[in-house]
Amino acid sequence: MNYIKGYRCTICGKFFETQEALLTCPDCGEKGILDVEYDYEALKKVLTKDYFEKNRNYSMWRYAPIMGIKEDHIDEMLRIGWTPLVKSHNLSKILGIKELYVKDDGLNPSGSSKDRASGVAVLKAIEAGAKVISCSSTGNAASSCACHAAHMGLPAVIFVPKRAPIGKLTQISLYGATLVIVDGDYKAAFKLSKEAIAKHGWYNRNAAINPFMVEGKKTVSLEIAEQLNFKPTDWVVVSVGDGCTIGGVYKGFNELFKLGLIDRVPRILGVQSTGCEPFVVAAKNHEPLKECDENTIADSIAVGIPRNPIKALRAVEYSKGAWISVPDEEIIKAMGLLGKTEGIFGEPAGVTGVAGLAKALKEGIIKKDESVTIIVTGNGLKDPNNAQKAIVKPDLMEPNIEKLDIYLKEKGVI
Ligand SMILES: [Zn+2]
Repeated sequence: MNYIKGYRCTICGKFFETQEALLTCPDCGEKGILDVEYDYEALKKVLTKDYFEKNRNYSMWRYAPIMGIKEDHIDEMLRIGWTPLVKSHNLSKILGIKELYVKDDGLNPSGSSKDRASGVAVLKAIEAGAKVISCSSTGNAASSCACHAAHMGLPAVIFVPKRAPIGKLTQISLYGATLVIVDGDYKAAFKLSKEAIAKHGWYNRNAAINPFMVEGKKTVSLEIAEQLNFKPTDWVVVSVGDGCTIGGVYKGFNELFKLGLIDRVPRILGVQSTGCEPFVVAAKNHEPLKECDENTIADSIAVGIPRNPIKALRAVEYSKGAWISVPDEEIIKAMGLLGKTEGIFGEPAGVTGVAGLAKALKEGIIKKDESVTIIVTGNGLKDPNNAQKAIVKPDLMEPNIEKLDIYLKEKGVI
């Protein structure tokens, strides 16, 4: 059953009561990004704690009634979501924080949280009878779109900027999508994809514009809450690029609150790299978002013109959260730290939240007696070149036991 009540424009606030899938507000144009609203009173009777206890579908599809999708094809889809929420025992000690969880979203089928949005996009494209799905992305949305389109037999045309890391480029081609590597940055890739999508009438998976992408993204919050028995942590920390993920994180918790399943929305810490921090600057100066350089190794959040500014800024404002930025050196350190302490290998953007939490603790934004969940948004194997910066590669070892012992002593193992 479809519980969608309508779509509300994030700019003018106008509500469109229609079962037709709209992309953007007809009055505000392309900037009028829409928010999907549901009949929460009707959903309260469906999405009960009892429903979740009895539901054995351990994937994001368990939330189908509040995702705005038809359920006809979900059994054919890859398993997306229900990624582990790891309780930290080591990193928490190092940071001096009492209760810390890591949501390892890099364990999704294509290795990033973007699978949540791409899964919904592919279903929506099939519902719409589309012949081709297309998107532009810094890399993860692209590889996840290619992944789920491949599984459902839907051709995909994917646009990426030339700096997309090798792991992601390889994934896209391996999944059989038509890959367009644009000679330019993400802004250039986005522009070309927009023109091509309009010209050829493809299904548009571009996350900011398509309101259903957030309906997939928000499931990460539904899972965090459910995995913590509907008592989410005081804070949730997430890295921010386009703003769609953080927008989804807030929407998920806010909807659980509306459904009476949690008694408060966690405060959200949005983390960017100092090399590309349009949200941090806008929030600090209380001014509209300005275009900025994309100068960070965290490619997934190197977004100079975020396409979803309103949802992202509101996520932090409405949750009484905060914005923070960290230099790339801290991001590289965080990769090593998370790997060493928790056995979790995140890509640079994936671990930016770890670096952000460390800084927020130092600055007193987050207190050490507060509980925190960090969302790791992408797997480290996607970007092996940058991962190399976080490690010391050992020299070649002669096959000689004495030499081995010298090395082991140096490492403190014997
Ligand atoms: Zn509008």
